[in-house]
Amino acid sequence: MRSADGPPAAGRGGEQPIGERGADRDQHQPLVGVLALQGDFEAHARLLATLGARAREVRVPEQLEGLDALVIPGGESTTMTLGVEREGLAEPLRELARAGTPILGTCAGMIMLDRLHLGVLDAVARRNAFGRQLRSFETDLEVEGVAGGPLRAVFIRAPWIEEHGPQVRVLARVDGHPVAVRQGAVLAVAFHPELAGDARLHRLLLDARSRPSERRA
Ligand code: GLN
Repeated sequence: MRSADGPPAAGRGGEQPIGERGADRDQHQPLVGVLALQGDFEAHARLLATLGARAREVRVPEQLEGLDALVIPGGESTTMTLGVEREGLAEPLRELARAGTPILGTCAGMIMLDRLHLGVLDAVARRNAFGRQLRSFETDLEVEGVAGGPLRAVFIRAPWIEEHGPQVRVLARVDGHPVAVRQGAVLAVAFHPELAGDARLHRLLLDARSRPSERRA
């Protein structure tokens, strides 16, 4: 749900070249969907525009067609699950993952990918694992595969990965718990990279398009 005091709603459907840069690029720029049922999808769209990608808000299955990659943002996984069910998005999202399309899930997005939800990540995310309000925090985090120094990671009522199968690679931990993982072209992080304005994980997502060996989990 879009909050009443949020920015004006974009039309249901259209692709949004968000920001002047995005708008100026040619049609070869990658098209990245951002699941926009609920949560902070606009910040992701802005970051993607800085990488020269076009962002498309996804609310119905047809909007998954033709995507080069997908972001499932943070928010509230229970609400997001209801939205996915209401719109008949679960199977089309699984199909997108099966096809090897790179997917980045952040915070609630990590939860959405796990065994108990969409089941495209062979892992179980523990919700609110750090505790609720009091355990919202920021930290500098080295993430395997992300060059250029630690990422500023913002954790808000974040999950961690409680258990995972052998195909899941842990890219970063906090207090010994996995908070960034990868399985094939599916990347899941427990924090909010978009709030710190760091586009390196989104860059990783775009780069995963060109690595077919990582496309199959
Ligand atoms: N605690 C939320 C949930 O369980 C996730 C929080 C977030 O995405 N920042 O869904």
